[in-house]
Amino acid sequence: MLKIELCQDMRRQVAIWRRAGERLSFVPTMGYLHEGHLSLLRLAKEHGSKLIASIFVNPTQFNSRDDFEKYPRNLARDFDLLEKAGVDLVFLPSDNEIYAGSAGVCVEPGALASQHEGEFRPGHFSGVLTVVSILFNLTQPDLAVFGEKDFQQLRLVEELVSALHFPLKIVRGPTMRETDGLALSSRNARLTAQGRKTALALSAGLFAAQRGAQAGERSAERLLGLARQVCSAQNGLEVEYLRLVDEANLQTLQIIDRPARLIVAAYVEKVRLIDNVKI
Ligand code: AMP
Repeated sequence: MLKIELCQDMRRQVAIWRRAGERLSFVPTMGYLHEGHLSLLRLAKEHGSKLIASIFVNPTQFNSRDDFEKYPRNLARDFDLLEKAGVDLVFLPSDNEIYAGSAGVCVEPGALASQHEGEFRPGHFSGVLTVVSILFNLTQPDLAVFGEKDFQQLRLVEELVSALHFPLKIVRGPTMRETDGLALSSRNARLTAQGRKTALALSAGLFAAQRGAQAGERSAERLLGLARQVCSAQNGLEVEYLRLVDEANLQTLQIIDRPARLIVAAYVEKVRLIDNVKI
């Protein structure tokens, strides 16, 4: 597995592969890898002949220095997992390597970013879409895989590719969960055993609403009520938002008359967690 830190080395390797007619697939991550990331790598490997991963904890998408600094990191373990997943190249640039020449130029994420995560994390999606654009330009993939776990991010990346005419395809990777339902997240590592139990109410609440919808309930308010009931029964779970939205434009819905997502953000032990399910 090649380990590349410099943009110019990345460009050189990509040029060699593209000249050789390789089909490049790409999975960007912030490291501290788990089975969710590995599932995206497997999906990416199916679609391409050379597999590129990146590990970059992007400072511009964090809302507080503290959250950025506390983000879990373990490069040695990540290298091992990437190697086993058959990754051909891992790109690990420094902050300076990515942003030295930026002069504050960034991507404006547009209307899809104004609500939900964007509402509670101002500037977050501009940071995400800017770094994703930079990474796309440096890795020049034919396709990139993003997880449904971060559903609004996934939708925004799809819009980015369409709006800026990036010549690549976005593939969606389903959310990987623990056997008890908790969505895998690097941030789970910051929870105590008790916090992890508390966090379980998030997915349990989403599943309760999903079952309600499967049983024929179409009222958003009643479905949200089912989820809220489960979440509010759990001390230590502070829900920031819980909404039923149109899967395409992320507008809130009153009645489920089209493909929808139930999306949630909550704090457990000061760790911010997000999850969603298809309704
Ligand atoms: P991150 O390292 O958290 O920035 O995530 C990198 C990629 O992994 C993103 O496309 C995420 O949506 C995806 N991802 C994170 N958690 C999961 C999960 N539990 N299942 C599937 N994909 C995930």
